[in-house]
Amino acid sequence: ATAATLRPGDAYLQVEEVGKQFGTFVALHRVSLTVQAGEFVTFLGPSGCGKTTLLRGIAGLDPPTTGRILQEGRDITHLPPSERDFGIVFQSYALFPNLTVAANVAYGLRGPAWPKPRVRDRVAELLGIVGLADQGQKFPAQLSGGQQQRVALARALANEPGLLLLDEPLSALDAIVRQHLRQEIRSLQQRLGVTTVMVTHDQEEAMGVSDRIVVMSRGRIEQIGTPAAIYERPASPFVAGFIGHSSHFEAVVDSPSGVIVAGGMRLGAEAARPLLFGARVTCFIRPEHVRLDRADAAPPGALIARVTGLEFLGPVCRVSLEAGPLRLLAAVAPVDLVALEAVPGAEVAATLPPERLMVFVDDV
Ligand code: ATP
Repeated sequence: ATAATLRPGDAYLQVEEVGKQFGTFVALHRVSLTVQAGEFVTFLGPSGCGKTTLLRGIAGLDPPTTGRILQEGRDITHLPPSERDFGIVFQSYALFPNLTVAANVAYGLRGPAWPKPRVRDRVAELLGIVGLADQGQKFPAQLSGGQQQRVALARALANEPGLLLLDEPLSALDAIVRQHLRQEIRSLQQRLGVTTVMVTHDQEEAMGVSDRIVVMSRGRIEQIGTPAAIYERPASPFVAGFIGHSSHFEAVVDSPSGVIVAGGMRLGAEAARPLLFGARVTCFIRPEHVRLDRADAAPPGALIARVTGLEFLGPVCRVSLEAGPLRLLAAVAPVDLVALEAVPGAEVAATLPPERLMVFVDDV
């Protein structure tokens, strides 16, 4: 029914003012969002922000206290999970240890619609899709973590659900397997066109696979947008700080044309809104936007900063800096690091381009 009646871009899942309380604790404050047919949407946020609670509400594992959830226009808020149309993958693979891989995948394929030969064909097809065609007779314990998670994925997709839910599916895997599997999940999702909602606390994972990201904090949605929009135009200080390893500092507006003072130093700033003279602001800047020059060739307006630490990440090196009371993080190519003679204790010139400063007026 799904494929025939809904086209990409149509609303597939609607979360309307969903609230959740555990006793007196409010885990979700009336959150609303829409997931379109075929979309890959990720709930991203720190531990305890409510992302798992929201996913569990969508799955019917833990219904919301208030609000409604619609799937294909149908109110499913209080339907038991068994009457809903979704497949789910959990962080802990949750496979049956005493069943073979094939039997795990076949688990949900029951009833008159699934005679044995059809189940066998479908299981073979699914194992092929997840790259485990020859592993059907093994038991879960004989597989690696990544392979077990592929089995869980095959099982979740067995019934051709309209909605795929992924609850931190990669968190238990090591870095390389994780990166590989996340690209596979994404390409599989695109190939099948299945509407997908994933929960993660890992920003790179969210950035890497999602059409849109829902950034959450303390039971509220901070921003919904494409990875590029979330990265380039964070809507709140929380998003600016949570995404992209930004440095931040407090400042005071010195002139409405965009000069701010931080720790006695004057900086240019281009804010989205005109800044009020005297206003207190919090500024964020991403490491790759901090420009470094040699201290003896400091461009006008640069801050003289001391190198306090270096962290090699391969293609870039993160340089920790102190300029007066400001603590900054800059990302530079290793080759530039050599030219800068940026060793711990050395001085460099740090330029914070005004258009790259993300400025938020503090709440009073
Ligand atoms: P994590 O990544 O740590 O799971 P999360 O963002 O998924 O974090 P949730 O699991 O949704 O967070 O939990 C949100 C808040 O609700 C947390 O403070 C948690 O302690 C609380 N909470 C979740 N489930 C229950 C429960 N069954 N009873 C009481 N409090 C709960």
